[in-house]
Amino acid sequence: MDFQFTEQQEMLRATVREFVEKECPRQLVRKWDEEHAFPMEVLEKLKKIGVMGIITPVEYEGMGGSIIDYTIVCEELARSTCWGLASYFNAVIMYGTDMILHCGNEEQKKYFLPGLARGELLFAYGITEPDSGSDAAAAKTMAVEKGDHYILNGSKMFITLADKADYTITLARTDKDVAKHKGLTLFIVDTKSKGYSARPLKKMGGFTDTTCEVVYDNVEVPKTHILGGSEAVNRGWQLLISTLETEHLEVAANSLGYAQAAFDDSLQYAKERNAFGQPIGKFQAISHMLAEMAVDLHLARLCVYQLAWLRDSNKPCYKESCMAKLVATECWTNMAHRAMQIFGGYSLMYEYDVQRYLRDSYILLIGGGTRQIQKNMIAKSLGL
Ligand SMILES: Cc1cc2nc3c(=O)[nH]c(=O)nc-3n(C[C@H](O)[C@H](O)[C@H](O)COP(=O)(O)OP(=O)(O)OC[C@H]3O[C@@H](n4cnc5c(N)ncnc54)[C@H](O)[C@@H]3O)c2cc1C
Repeated sequence: MDFQFTEQQEMLRATVREFVEKECPRQLVRKWDEEHAFPMEVLEKLKKIGVMGIITPVEYEGMGGSIIDYTIVCEELARSTCWGLASYFNAVIMYGTDMILHCGNEEQKKYFLPGLARGELLFAYGITEPDSGSDAAAAKTMAVEKGDHYILNGSKMFITLADKADYTITLARTDKDVAKHKGLTLFIVDTKSKGYSARPLKKMGGFTDTTCEVVYDNVEVPKTHILGGSEAVNRGWQLLISTLETEHLEVAANSLGYAQAAFDDSLQYAKERNAFGQPIGKFQAISHMLAEMAVDLHLARLCVYQLAWLRDSNKPCYKESCMAKLVATECWTNMAHRAMQIFGGYSLMYEYDVQRYLRDSYILLIGGGTRQIQKNMIAKSLGL
């Protein structure tokens, strides 16, 4: 067993950390959150360090990096605590590159992957609907074949960056007369298509990206944009499931980065803030809280990087992906709750970051599958 990162991976981490420290200082992250805006010029600078092509194979103009490399970038970007930065990066890699790489046919890979690797394309992921989230296979959005294209009608809910994306990967029903999992297809929908509209929703956290309701009103999608090609018609669910491990990893790695930031802030505050003539970190109640936070962080890190290693080794890891998603997202939420206690009254103030951590942490607890769904999957893998 080797728990060492390679020299290149340490360099990658240092490069991303340096970028984050320079481009996303905490006072700016706070300001962007208050203004509900993420500056695109920061994303443009991120593209220049090449990480948008981190997992894209070299033949499609990417860096050909490993899943561990990707995990390092996710963790370091999230450590900035800038929601928008991590969210845009993940939309490119997870909803774009990973979906096309694992589910697309050769023409689709050649067409989309180089642009994604350069960060020129942004993708959204349209699975959840107003009436179906955890039960995603119950999707009602319909796709009806008509000549050389399909016509999509229906709606999606809570879709990240669907108003900004160039394409939205869309799960739609192509056969309603078979079992629900068997009649679904994934489409690469051009967001400029007539009849596609996305409306950002107001939410309690994650202010520097958008979460949208999407409407498909007779949207024409050419057959060339069936993800995986015509042989993938009615195989959408299988394709979707095959990418869930990476989605769980992405959410877990982000949670780890955010949790690390919340821990670092709390430790520093516990050393600096005095009460009753001593730093509050000297009180056992506070020091034990920090000790528990350090343990949670360590466990989350082990789960996250073991999962990344399993993915790189092409070993089965669905159960581990559910475990990592569960452990890391709960780690972040618990970290934020404890940080609230350590910062006392200041934790509620907008000049401090802790209230933002608490607001943002609930998103990853739910997005990508709730804790109940992860537990269902883990229990199923135990034969229950
Ligand atoms: C900010 C944000 C961004 C998101 N981004 C995207 C995106 O980009 N693309 C996308 O497709 N989706 C996205 N989602 C949707 C997200 O994946 C869903 O919200 C999530 O899967 C839960 O679905 P739901 O909200 O419909 O809850 P429901 O499925 O209605 O669940 C409600 C409650 O019932 C529980 N429950 C449901 N079924 C079971 C069961 N079988 N056993 C036990 N408990 C159960 C759930 O755990 C939960 O506690 C996003 C959500 C948010 C909040």
